[in-house]
Amino acid sequence: MVAHPRSAVPDAFPPAGVTAIVFDVVGTLVEPAVSVADTYAAAGRRQGVDLDPATVARRFATAWRRQESIDAAAATPFVTSRSRERERWREIVADVFGPGDATAAIFTDLWAHFALPQAWRPVPRGVTLAQTAIDAGLVVAVASNFDERLLDIAPHLDPLTRVAGVFPSSEIGWRKPAAEFFRQVERRLERRPEQLLYVGDDPDLDVMAAANAGWQSLLVG
Ligand SMILES: [Mg+2]
Repeated sequence: MVAHPRSAVPDAFPPAGVTAIVFDVVGTLVEPAVSVADTYAAAGRRQGVDLDPATVARRFATAWRRQESIDAAAATPFVTSRSRERERWREIVADVFGPGDATAAIFTDLWAHFALPQAWRPVPRGVTLAQTAIDAGLVVAVASNFDERLLDIAPHLDPLTRVAGVFPSSEIGWRKPAAEFFRQVERRLERRPEQLLYVGDDPDLDVMAAANAGWQSLLVG
C-alpha cells in the first residue's frame, strides 16, 4: 500500500517496540485559534499601540530566535524554569512592541490570553494520531517547550484531555533540544529510549532532538 502524503496515520503506526508515544503540543496537537500576529496586534490596539500583523510577525520571528539563542548560549544550555519561561515571553513582547508603558500591559494581556483553552484549537491530524495510539493501548503523553499554563489548559482542550501525562519544559527543568529534556520524560513514564516515539512538527527541535536522545521520532504537519 502506498501511503497518501496527506494520510492522517502513517504505515506501521505505532512502530514495533514502542510502548509510549510523546507528542509535541503547539503545531502538532493544537495551534493558536487566531494567529499569533493577529492576536498580538489586537492586544497592542487594546493598549493604544497600532502595529500591523505583518510587522508583528517579522519582529516575533526575530524575537523568538533571540530567545532560543540565549538558551543555547547559557552556562547550562536549555536549562529552564517557570521564571525563565515567563521572562522569555516578556522579552519577546518587549522586542515586538518596543520599550514603553504599554508593553507591560500588553504582556499581561497576552500571557492571560494564551492561558485560555479557547485561545487554542485542535490540529485534526494530531488528534487522529493520538487517538490511534490510545486505541492501540499505548501510553500517550505530551512534552513541550511550554510553561505551567499548559497544566491548566490541558484538562479543557481536546486532544490534551485524552493524554496520560503533561510535561511542560518549565516543570521538568529542560527545553528541547536538550537530551536531558527527553531523559526527564523517560523517568516519568518509566520507559527506555527505544520504547519511546516522539511526534512533532519541528524537524530540529522535535525529530532530530528526539533521535539524538535515542528515541524513535516522527515528523508531522
Ligand atoms: Mg511544535
